Amino acid sequence: MSIFEDNNRRLADIRELEGISEAEMSVLDNPVQTKYAELEVNGRKYPAWRIVYNRALGPGKGGIRFHPDVSEDEVKSLSFWMALKNSLADIPYGGAKGGVKFNPKDSNQEELEAISRAYIRAFHEYLGENKDVPAPDVYTNAQIMAWMLDEFEKINGRHEPGMITGKPLEIGGLALRGDATARGGYLIIKEMAAEFLRGRRNKKIKIAIQGFGNAGLFMTEKLFNDGYKIIAVSDSQGAVYNEDGLNIPEIIKLKNSGQSVGVYSGGRKISNAELLELPVDILVLAALENQIIKENAPRVRADYLVELANGPISYEADLILEKNKKIIVPDILANSGGVIVSYFEWAQNKTGQILDEEYLRGLLGKKMKLNWRRVYEKYSEKNGAITLRQAAYILAIRKILTAEKWRG
Ligand code: NAD
Repeated sequence: MSIFEDNNRRLADIRELEGISEAEMSVLDNPVQTKYAELEVNGRKYPAWRIVYNRALGPGKGGIRFHPDVSEDEVKSLSFWMALKNSLADIPYGGAKGGVKFNPKDSNQEELEAISRAYIRAFHEYLGENKDVPAPDVYTNAQIMAWMLDEFEKINGRHEPGMITGKPLEIGGLALRGDATARGGYLIIKEMAAEFLRGRRNKKIKIAIQGFGNAGLFMTEKLFNDGYKIIAVSDSQGAVYNEDGLNIPEIIKLKNSGQSVGVYSGGRKISNAELLELPVDILVLAALENQIIKENAPRVRADYLVELANGPISYEADLILEKNKKIIVPDILANSGGVIVSYFEWAQNKTGQILDEEYLRGLLGKKMKLNWRRVYEKYSEKNGAITLRQAAYILAIRKILTAEKWRG
């Protein structure tokens, strides 16, 4: 089953739950724009996509991923989730996503720059601060955003920093963007714990985290600093486990020196698959899609699963976890901190105003709490008859459909 077909099944469930007609929901059946190109760099060809899912609420918005598994199905699904995430977060964007299929770990800096610039040459006419605004995603970063902005501005012969977010500070980025996804997700975990784990002390709450990149590393650091007991972490090369709690600052040092978390000696080496099945209170998924699927879902022992990654739990796994009374905090809520801060960056670039970072940090906190509350209230309203994911989807979809109706 493709990821996108999974999304269709989720949409069909919402249609039934909410009594939305097939005709009304059909605006969400497919992306409004799909662009494909083969980037030619140093005699090699790289398949690349930019997809806008919906524009009812505003211009396209979503990251660009460099990964060997990138496919049209994946980019389409990621752009769909972006549309719902932006709607739920109440920011004036449609949804979009991009990707290039290759392994950036096999490329040097010159090749990465050439691929980044080639991406913009292929898609520049579809991008722009009022058309479609990219950002970093898996294996892309501020440097790549800077090359992309530079190429775009060279082609167009004018400055337009709002055409991309997640930029370095010196060319219009915000310091707050660096750990924004994790900060937002951390605030959601605090809200979730206050609701579901009331009375439990942080040091008694055991957490495992899959993925140790931008989202996972900062999330682990924040949870550790807040006293939670982090007993396992992983990256693409391996995983490490210590029942008494891991020394996270040491693991971060190791990771920042270019090594895998799996080589850390203060714990037992385990496999990535084992990490997902540990008896923890909270499992944070911060790597890639389809990590919990129907095969391993019955073995998941965490009571709460937080989707910091996009789409880490398949549709069929959702059903199994739900039957096993697991609570899932969905991606479109848990990882929306990144795009909310991208919106602050974009707004600042467009207006030319300088906004105080402390003020923005406070605003991010307020928005995350409010979004949690809205989803939780919708979930509670239905007395447990729907999941948190369905509550979030209902709110996000209703808003897009209403905007579409206004547009006529
Ligand atoms: P990243 O490239 O910074 O890090 C990805 C991490 O996942 C790396 O540590 C990598 O080693 C690890 N990983 C890859 N495959 C793995 C596997 N099979 N098992 C365990 N670890 C594995 O990417 P990121 O920005 O942290 O993105 C991670 C997820 O969060 C993605 O789904 C992304 O779409 C989502 N996300 C990121 C942001 C953001 O602002 N960075 C915002 C919203 C959502």
